[in-house]
Amino acid sequence: MKIICIGRNYAEHAKEMKAETPTEPVFFMKPDTALISDNDPFFFPKFSNEVHYETEIVLRINKNGKNIQKQFASRYFEQISVGIDFTARDLQAQCKAKGLPWEKAKSFDGSGVIGTMVSKEKYKDINNLNFHLDINGKTVQKGNTKELIFSYETIIEYVSGFVTLRTGDLIYTGTPVGVGPVKVGDRLQAYIEDEKLLDFEVK
Ligand code: MG
Repeated sequence: MKIICIGRNYAEHAKEMKAETPTEPVFFMKPDTALISDNDPFFFPKFSNEVHYETEIVLRINKNGKNIQKQFASRYFEQISVGIDFTARDLQAQCKAKGLPWEKAKSFDGSGVIGTMVSKEKYKDINNLNFHLDINGKTVQKGNTKELIFSYETIIEYVSGFVTLRTGDLIYTGTPVGVGPVKVGDRLQAYIEDEKLLDFEVK
């Protein structure tokens, strides 16, 4: 499986990163070795002094597809969750300054944390979902999927025009405003609406 991540998909987050609002989706990938599930701990990496959380709604692809048209795209995912796209912000800033790829800042081991998957049928409207992250019991980031610049369907159409999607692939749909650092000892708990789907520690 592979992990596809959408960048700058919330206007206020693009602003906080001093990036332009994109006119087409921006995506990058993490390898399967990035994945942390089952509330396993995240080990703070030695190569960074500034690792940020990015709380995101995540889709799980449930059938193979290439060049998927937007009007059929909703058939390609049945389950969603909330996840963390961990980013070594200091390394990313260095990469950006030199115009280099972001992989070492975005794709390192443990950089993709995923919560419990839930059927999308459970929700009245997945285009109007509140989600948030608590650190040590305090809410540090919250968003609503109605603020997505590119919809789930647009993302699937766009990405599958370049990269074949396979069952089990995950798509991180982008983070809202309010990213920030984590430190060793933090406990992260992420929610969709009032349901906690993710609960893990930084070690
Ligand atoms: Mg992200």
